[in-house]
Amino acid sequence: MKHILIDMDNVIFATMVGFNKKLSEMFPEVEIIPVEGIRDHNFYNLYPKEVHPKLDAVWKLPGFFRDLEPIPGALEAVLEIARTNHITICSRPFLDSETCESDKKASIRKYLGRDLTKRLGLIRDKTEVRGDILIDDYVNQKTGFYTPTWEHVLYTQPWNLQDTQKRRLTWQNWKQVLPELA
Ligand SMILES: [Mg+2]
Repeated sequence: MKHILIDMDNVIFATMVGFNKKLSEMFPEVEIIPVEGIRDHNFYNLYPKEVHPKLDAVWKLPGFFRDLEPIPGALEAVLEIARTNHITICSRPFLDSETCESDKKASIRKYLGRDLTKRLGLIRDKTEVRGDILIDDYVNQKTGFYTPTWEHVLYTQPWNLQDTQKRRLTWQNWKQVLPELA
């Protein structure tokens, strides 16, 4: 049995898809960069400065994180991994949102159930959590207070394709990449 840490945003939930949808609803005048075209995890760099307050407004929208849709295959995969492994859903809270933490808890409860809600950890520095593997889309996840005990396996997204050093997966091929978990 292994201890697997699983990120939420853009790994279990389609955060950037939901973000673009809300951005176009709230600010139809903004020229939106499609998710496949986001090649920088800090996608603010891709927008002109005057658009940044509009991007902030989407993140801060009450309920934004609660309304995100799961990524296809994610729920089935997480439930399957949890059957034979110890898991922690390890997610960074967005401090400027009033509802981020309760939204994330509500989403896990709604889509993954009460038992996995007990396995939710909201933490900004994931090196503070022990584990064998961290599945996360963010390339710089290893930077933090501690030397990580886990291997960072990338969840493939357009903004992390340049990192060729780490193992990577999607919920379509995770059993081939991590046969030790199945
Ligand atoms: Mg993420």
